[in-house]
Amino acid sequence: MILVFKILSKSIHEGVATLQLSLAKLNMSLPIPKRKVQVAVIGAGAVGVSVGLNLLEKLSSNLVVSIISDEFSPRTVSDKAGAVIIPFDVRAKGKSEGKSNDDDTGHQLRVRKWTRETYRHLEDLYSSRFAEEVNIQLVHGYFGNQEDTVDPWWGRELVTGFRRVGDEEKAYKRIPLSIRNVFAFNTFILSGSDYLNWLMKRFQEKGGFLVKMKINNFHELSSYDIIINCTGLGASSLVQDPLLYPVRGDTVTILAPWIKEFFLLTNDEEDYVMYVFPRSADVLLGGSKVTNEWSKEINEETSSKIIKNCSSIIPSISNAAIVDYSVGLRPARKEIRFEVDAENPSLIHCYGHGGQGIVTHWGCALEVTEIIRNYIDLMHRRVPSKL
Ligand SMILES: Cc1cc2nc3c(=O)[nH]c(=O)nc-3n(C[C@H](O)[C@H](O)[C@H](O)COP(=O)(O)OP(=O)(O)OC[C@H]3O[C@@H](n4cnc5c(N)ncnc54)[C@H](O)[C@@H]3O)c2cc1C
Repeated sequence: MILVFKILSKSIHEGVATLQLSLAKLNMSLPIPKRKVQVAVIGAGAVGVSVGLNLLEKLSSNLVVSIISDEFSPRTVSDKAGAVIIPFDVRAKGKSEGKSNDDDTGHQLRVRKWTRETYRHLEDLYSSRFAEEVNIQLVHGYFGNQEDTVDPWWGRELVTGFRRVGDEEKAYKRIPLSIRNVFAFNTFILSGSDYLNWLMKRFQEKGGFLVKMKINNFHELSSYDIIINCTGLGASSLVQDPLLYPVRGDTVTILAPWIKEFFLLTNDEEDYVMYVFPRSADVLLGGSKVTNEWSKEINEETSSKIIKNCSSIIPSISNAAIVDYSVGLRPARKEIRFEVDAENPSLIHCYGHGGQGIVTHWGCALEVTEIIRNYIDLMHRRVPSKL
């Protein structure tokens, strides 16, 4: 099993397509499964539950899957997400002037693949019988920043109706002229909680198990064959990852059914981030991005600033009923950690999605599933034929 996972680990870096292994070179006996493979997914956020669901949808005849988590919806970070499907945070090395999201490092290409697959999944969901339950919406709106002087790749490839917005339209929409690059397009918006509840329900319907438990050490899960670590920010204590850190996000939820357009505007030079995400039942206002802030206490000053910034774009927001104040900590990392553990080959890490966990979650889950499928195929191909 160790050798198999080492090969799979290598292949993660080279792309799943390279998983065509030369078994003839493996002069060893792979374990022959006498029972279903026991899989533990740690974490019940969007990443963990999608991994669990994908495994059951595609490999249930070979696997038993349990999601083990200290918190479930509505107490995960994924519940706090907007969640708008714009890959705005998916950049390779910092955000420098003149760079678009088109940077093409190896990691960036993987992130792009996960994003594409997630977008396609949401398109399917939007057209499916589940659309109402998930509360997924296709919304027109405006996205602006200082960095994307070149049109971003996803504008051409994923979203519909993508166009660059001129100063006249910016002024009409009350978008500050200091926001240099503004784009209009249609994309999907979800409520993190509604979506997570749907994923959880599907997972249970497919026979998945839920276990409420905090994991302090992977040895606690020694009865499982494979462990998938989807603990988000929790990985900072579980695996003591020094590269993982919180980025605090404050939001205010209002009732304003007349608002039908989204806005997401950022200006890092002025520490400005504002967003308005109309959802089926309410409108989520934001935001903030406070690096290395662990506190989840509501801050009145930040909440007032959010309402002020959003009202400057849509003045009627100042009269809307406020129904919730909330804080979530994004699990930020320079790069998402998605790899087989170097010391423990039956452990796969998939955490550190920052502000893009909803945008990428399904693609990550598909890739985890491919890795496990190949692992099972390898085992089966080693079983001596009875013919
Ligand atoms: C205000 C805000 C707005 C956002 N907006 C967007 C957006 O518009 N689009 C987007 O793509 N993303 C957005 N995000 C980011 C997104 O929410 C995250 O990237 C995503 O939720 C991460 O999902 P996850 O499953 O990795 O982590 P989480 O949702 O944090 O789940 C981690 C799970 O692991 C469990 N866990 C942790 N440690 C342990 C342990 N030791 N033992 C057992 N269980 C453990 C936790 O209880 C939890 O269930 C936003 C985030 C915030 C805060």
